[in-house]
Amino acid sequence: MLTQASDLSAGSSRHVAVVGTGIIGVCCARSLQRDGHRVTLIDRTPLGQGASFGNSAVLATESVVPVATPGIWRQVPKMLLDPLGPLSLRWQYLPQLTPWLLRFLAASRPEAVERISLALQALLDDAVPAYRLLLKEADAEDLLVRRGWIAAYTEPSSLRSYRRLADLQRRRGVEVAELSVAEMRQMEPALTKDLAGGLYYPQVAHALDPHRVLLALAERVQREGGQVLRRDVVGFRMAEGRVQAVETTEDSLDCDAVVVAAGAWSKELAKRLGVKVPLDTERGYHLTIPAPGIALSRPVYSTEFGMACTPLASGLRLGGTVELGGTVAEPNWKRAQVLAERGRRLFPDLDTRDASRWMGFRPSLPDSLPVLGPAPRAANAVLAFGHGHLGLTLGARTGRLVADLVAGRPAPIDLAPFAATRF
Ligand SMILES: Cc1cc2nc3c(=O)[nH]c(=O)nc-3n(C[C@H](O)[C@H](O)[C@H](O)COP(=O)(O)OP(=O)(O)OC[C@H]3O[C@@H](n4cnc5c(N)ncnc54)[C@H](O)[C@@H]3O)c2cc1C
Repeated sequence: MLTQASDLSAGSSRHVAVVGTGIIGVCCARSLQRDGHRVTLIDRTPLGQGASFGNSAVLATESVVPVATPGIWRQVPKMLLDPLGPLSLRWQYLPQLTPWLLRFLAASRPEAVERISLALQALLDDAVPAYRLLLKEADAEDLLVRRGWIAAYTEPSSLRSYRRLADLQRRRGVEVAELSVAEMRQMEPALTKDLAGGLYYPQVAHALDPHRVLLALAERVQREGGQVLRRDVVGFRMAEGRVQAVETTEDSLDCDAVVVAAGAWSKELAKRLGVKVPLDTERGYHLTIPAPGIALSRPVYSTEFGMACTPLASGLRLGGTVELGGTVAEPNWKRAQVLAERGRRLFPDLDTRDASRWMGFRPSLPDSLPVLGPAPRAANAVLAFGHGHLGLTLGARTGRLVADLVAGRPAPIDLAPFAATRF
């Protein structure tokens, strides 16, 4: 695969087109620019209006465990029967989703989980320092804080099953401590007494506003001469196995290299570069509450509710859940509404009035790993999408790895687990 990097490295300073102005595209553009390339960011919507707009803002460096873990198949009937459950599947979408779902279930086998967690560990390493560098240069370092995060469990059985996953995290070098209910309430007095216990991850950081992080980095890109164009990309003009130009509904934009970072919509573009990937989406919802009536010092996560509660500059965000339903169906806003109920179960004094609601499309491969590497049939194209639950966390790190690929520098980690051709 990486023999292609020799083509990518031809010439030192080039014009690189980056499709997608989500956090992945913006971080790629900034890292490429730091290497001396001229960059053009292309998106059909205004800057960062995709999944990167409303995520839960957590730099979840403890997330070395894939979404599919042993026994998850037992949840499939519940997924189908409860449209408001933390993990749900739209019936109408089942026929289209079945191949993805089968791969997802296959990725939950213990040996697969072990392999995937090693790949995640390698990718997550350095995620926070990589951001700090980019944000410092964008005068926005204060948008990132490290106060750890708490995983709260209401049921003793959930806590017991997550202890097993915590063991895997510890084996991957993640710092994690078990907390009693009293300790949890000492750290976060707004939490209910009605808990079984929790886990604390002291090294986890969060952003005070994920969209502002993206805008600060994009502003730096533009200040350095990078362009941001509003276009709908429909394909690529190819010659001799290389991309000559990005084709949009309006025009054709010449480039020396291209990065596809189009989030949940990258599948079609990857196909046009010669590779089929089983990319789908895990839709997620949020409520952002401007005056929640409670104060949190750090994010609190509930696996049982599939929900993160993150203190942001603009209020408290209750975000998460997974709805397997594709990119076309309308949002089911009841899913956002139940976040308020679940939030009140964790924080009895929570005031959810005036909450704004949002839905976003996590770009997800069934094995919880992104596609990150050269396009196998287009010598000057790099694919960088499918970061699932970890797109914010992995933005800066991905940008750096993409810049390495374009420069032809050896990557500091083995990129084979992220190859588009692995399926
Ligand atoms: C509820 C929720 C909570 C989350 N919480 C977290 C969290 O706490 N931590 C974390 O790390 N991650 C979290 N995530 C995941 C994270 O938000 C995503 O992984 C990440 O935003 C993906 O970034 P992206 O740049 O790949 O995609 P996006 O932000 O979706 O950007 C893709 C862009 O490509 C553009 N595009 C697509 N096709 C074309 C085309 N043909 N032409 C032009 N433009 C195109 C789109 O318009 C879009 O702007 C969460 C996600 C959700 C939904």
